[in-house]
Amino acid sequence: MKVIRARVLGYCMGVRRAMDMADAALSQSPVYAMGPLIHNPQAMKILTGRGLAVLDEEKLPADLSGASVIIRAHGITPALEAALVSRGAALIDATCPRVKASQLKAQSLCSTGYRVLLAGEGRHGEVIGIQGYAPDCIIVGNPTEAMAAAEKLFAERPVKTALIGQTTISEDEYAAIARAIEMVFPDLCVINTICRATRDRQDSLRSLCARVDAVIVAGGRESANTRRLLTIARTSTPGGPGKPAWLAETPADIPDEIRRYTTVGLCAGASTPDFLIDAVEQVLCE
Ligand code: SF4
Repeated sequence: MKVIRARVLGYCMGVRRAMDMADAALSQSPVYAMGPLIHNPQAMKILTGRGLAVLDEEKLPADLSGASVIIRAHGITPALEAALVSRGAALIDATCPRVKASQLKAQSLCSTGYRVLLAGEGRHGEVIGIQGYAPDCIIVGNPTEAMAAAEKLFAERPVKTALIGQTTISEDEYAAIARAIEMVFPDLCVINTICRATRDRQDSLRSLCARVDAVIVAGGRESANTRRLLTIARTSTPGGPGKPAWLAETPADIPDEIRRYTTVGLCAGASTPDFLIDAVEQVLCE
């Protein structure tokens, strides 16, 4: 069997940076992560085996004196940061620089009189974190919600409006949301906050699909961007109906039927560690 890797796969810059910071911090002790540092159970197992403990926002210990707390790539709210510091924790800020830029932009727009609309998934950690920097921002998940929010805002009082997006939102969805708001607020200030990392992995998979008979997507089942890659492999290839594709959280998930294919493509989500990609590739080659 011939295995071809996607041109772009695995850790994005923000996740790799957070993992490197965790790796360096684990020589100290004790070290906590504010929520799961990465959506990959194998990588988390290694980190917890080395002493990393995961904090739950709802059940913060009363005393974190002497402890280091790593803030994950998605970032957290300033209120949560303050709660950790007030308990004595030393913060290691692994917020992805691109997410940090969105947080600060939302804050500065808010302080200069803009009403900020934030396009993204309301329950996603990154969106919750940005909202903490612009508390009166309005979260919109799609163009219909965006239009309704804009009309309500306009009925209350005409204001200056700005749009910021979750870094992983699709470009098409972001443009559609902007168009919907511009129907009500033609002077909407649209900030480009989209990160190319997700798009690069998806584009790379689409070109890979044209060259292979089947695809294995390496990554965690809980990782939204990994599951999205699986859907793309199965449904949208250039000029084709999609390929047989499977998600492999570990090499044990590779199905026996993969043996029927002579050329197999390998891609991986932005939270999939290198060692897992290598292990999956090795089993496929064997
Ligand atoms: S996807 Fe982009 S914004 Fe999000 S953590 Fe990775 S590099 Fe940062």
